[in-house]
Amino acid sequence: QSAYPIEEIRADFPILSRTVRGGKPLVYLDNASTTQKPVQVISAIDDYYRNHNANIHRAVYELAEEATGAYEAARDKVARFINSPSREEVIFVRGTTEAINLVAYSWGRANVGPGDIIVTTEYEHHSNIVPWQLLAKEKGAELAYIDIDEKGELLLEQLDEHLETGRVKLVTFSLMSNVLGTISDVQGIASRCKAAGVPVLIDGAQAAPHMRVDVQALGCDFFAFSGHKMLAPTGIGALWVRREILEKMGPFHGGGDMIREVHKFETTWNDLPYKFEAGTPNIADTVGFGAAIDYLEGLGMEDVRRHEKSITEYALKRMAGVKGMTIYGTDEISRRGGVISFNFADVHPHDVAQIVDGEGVAIRSGHHCAQVLMEKLCVPATNRASFYVYNTREDVDALVTSLDKVARLFKLE
Ligand code: PMP
Repeated sequence: QSAYPIEEIRADFPILSRTVRGGKPLVYLDNASTTQKPVQVISAIDDYYRNHNANIHRAVYELAEEATGAYEAARDKVARFINSPSREEVIFVRGTTEAINLVAYSWGRANVGPGDIIVTTEYEHHSNIVPWQLLAKEKGAELAYIDIDEKGELLLEQLDEHLETGRVKLVTFSLMSNVLGTISDVQGIASRCKAAGVPVLIDGAQAAPHMRVDVQALGCDFFAFSGHKMLAPTGIGALWVRREILEKMGPFHGGGDMIREVHKFETTWNDLPYKFEAGTPNIADTVGFGAAIDYLEGLGMEDVRRHEKSITEYALKRMAGVKGMTIYGTDEISRRGGVISFNFADVHPHDVAQIVDGEGVAIRSGHHCAQVLMEKLCVPATNRASFYVYNTREDVDALVTSLDKVARLFKLE
């Protein structure tokens, strides 16, 4: 096995060579929020607008054929990337948030009624809570939670209890927590749901960028993810839906491209997946999404995961030595991804992030769109460092040096 080509990878990301805060090299550690883009993705978008731009699926002229070809080629890449049985089960959306709202609207409104239960977890992003609250309120249904233990692992016996009611209509969870980095026990959840005949939605926003995803092996029915967290542009993502379910789902948005025939009072729907892609889509960024997938496939998702594991393990070890530090989540490296949330005794996370930023290190502070989890942890906010393909041990060293400075400034013992 060849060595991970970190120097070549870093050279592909123009932004990594810029400086911040008066000449400090940029150390970008906010990858769970969004990732930087390699020149291959930037060039694909540039080339699309310079040479191939046209609307898709309509005109017969050469440019339109090229634009349609490029857009649909990206769908094939996404389908292969997640091992979808077919390209028709891949719907392009703006991102994970839109994907989950699509399911809550199109599937949820037809399948969830009074007294039904939707099960989610305590470590969900707001985008996997709020759409279900809206649906539950509208339908008189209930929202139930699987709690986490002190290591940030889901308490699956609670799922058993919910399923025993016979009223659960959907179980939905994040494959990797964007705060704790916990990798959910997907086999444990999917096998329980399968036995109970309950469909499963996976929020793959933090998983798809960092590990090999196989929607068939995961045993899920819906899988949602965002391009911008995996080197692609913002405003493009994908929703995968198992064909038997997708075929029964009503449309989401109405408009052009999602129809077969429109008459004054009746409309028939286009084939899958176009039925769920109304209006002119985000063509250029979809092409960029395809280029990002090519880039990740070129690295190999197994190597991406291996690299992040090694950086995370190193970071956990080094950060544990910083005075006053609380690190959340499990220290079992096989159970977590490259996301480390932490707090300093009495120092507000925004102050920490500001001091760290002064050293050129970009980390996140706040509730990370996971206020239910913040409540559980009894904190209003945390700091979060998160890694990706281009991060190095030197980046971790820079983080730890800046954290030591925080500890010194606040005289933490
Ligand atoms: N789920 C998780 C676990 C996330 O981390 C995020 C983004 N932070 C989302 C959903 C929402 O993704 P987007 O903002 O791209 O729609």
